[in-house]
Amino acid sequence: MTDYRRLPSIERLVAALLATHTAPHAVCVAQARQLVATWRQHPAHMPASFSDMVNQLSVAVMQVTQPSLRRVINATGVLLQTNLGRAPLSSAAQHALTEVAASATIEYELESGQRGDRHRHVTPVLTQLTGADSAVVVNNNAAAILLTLAALTNGREVIVSRSQAVEIGGGFRIPDVLKQSGAILVEVGTTNRTYVRDYAEAITPRTAAILCVHHSNFRIQGFTHEPQVAELAALAQTHHILLIDNVGSGSLLDVTPYGLLAEPLIQARIQAGADVVCFSGDKLIGGPQAGIIVGRRNVIQTIARHPLMRAVRPDKLTLAALHATLLSYVNETALNDIPVWRMISMPAATVAARAAHIAAQLPAPWHVRPTHSTIGGGALPGELLPSWALVCPHTHPDHLAATFRRHHIPIIGRVQADAVWFDMRTISPSDDTFIRDAIIQLTS
Ligand SMILES: *Cc1c(COP(=O)(O)O)cnc(C)c1O
Repeated sequence: MTDYRRLPSIERLVAALLATHTAPHAVCVAQARQLVATWRQHPAHMPASFSDMVNQLSVAVMQVTQPSLRRVINATGVLLQTNLGRAPLSSAAQHALTEVAASATIEYELESGQRGDRHRHVTPVLTQLTGADSAVVVNNNAAAILLTLAALTNGREVIVSRSQAVEIGGGFRIPDVLKQSGAILVEVGTTNRTYVRDYAEAITPRTAAILCVHHSNFRIQGFTHEPQVAELAALAQTHHILLIDNVGSGSLLDVTPYGLLAEPLIQARIQAGADVVCFSGDKLIGGPQAGIIVGRRNVIQTIARHPLMRAVRPDKLTLAALHATLLSYVNETALNDIPVWRMISMPAATVAARAAHIAAQLPAPWHVRPTHSTIGGGALPGELLPSWALVCPHTHPDHLAATFRRHHIPIIGRVQADAVWFDMRTISPSDDTFIRDAIIQLTS
């Protein structure tokens, strides 16, 4: 039998919470009412003691009164950790965000005092960096693909290789996006081999475009073939259809000097003749979440004028942070300025030296171990960067990891082989002393 007499009164719960916490009375009452209603409905969820009830109320009130999104330190060894916000922003990009946070010239021309165009801010720098005629920025790359297809294909056919009709993540599937855009998918080739002639044979008067999709998050190995972008661009041009190239992450710098497999270079795809190239702002570009579309002037104009553009346009914060990020490429300081590039390009010996320097000051059993970092964010699957980690063997490594997650700036490591690992490659060198102090404080 459920003992409904154990249900506390709202006043008693709220009074107990407010004895030790400061929170608006109305919020406490509303949250207490909800909790008590839940316990009445599901008596099994009723905490055993009154103080546990007050604790639950405290959590519920905090969820309404405290910011939920928190700064953390990414010690996971995954450079672009999607759950931790993908690319950390450069100092310049962070500064740009605060600069424009109040009023800013997002759609205003200072010279004339007239209304301006929000897209003009980053177009010159994007065309400079990619060699494209024009550019437009949207919310994210998923929106970029949807908008591009909706604007350019107008309900006509789009040819996609069977090896590229993929799911990108979070249920975002190329065939579904095509359907949503109103385009008709025409799949050609096979999962492992698709030739230019497969595309050529599928072109009809109803064809609007060929769509290329980079395999960002998986790799096909062995007996495989996919045509070069230049071959498809030539084919598209001959038939007066468009070549749309979704490079996913895409990059403005070559990753191969750092021992990684090549990622598509955006400027190379434009050079090869793609009419439109779209990519994410927060993967290897290393900026804020954004979808960047570069390509031929008339094509970009058609995209920018489509009604969906209004639904996916970027805000001033995105544009400011993106512009500041792109300026690091223009000024050739990207390897130092942009965190993801600093992580990629830092020699393993430098990572090792940082780890050793910290470890020398740590209590036992903390020590240094070699490890491997990954790129993450659906870029460069299976590619590893040599790295070094601060490691603490523990009988309950999950408990220790949780202790670090509860720190005032949470440190997110990984649990592996009965130990907690903090990969130094994904930790900003400016956080090294913070990590050292946190470890000393939390494990002594
Ligand atoms: C990441 C990715 C997307 C989605 O980009 P978002 O910016 O996350 O919306 C689309 N296509 C490919 C190939 C990707 O790698």
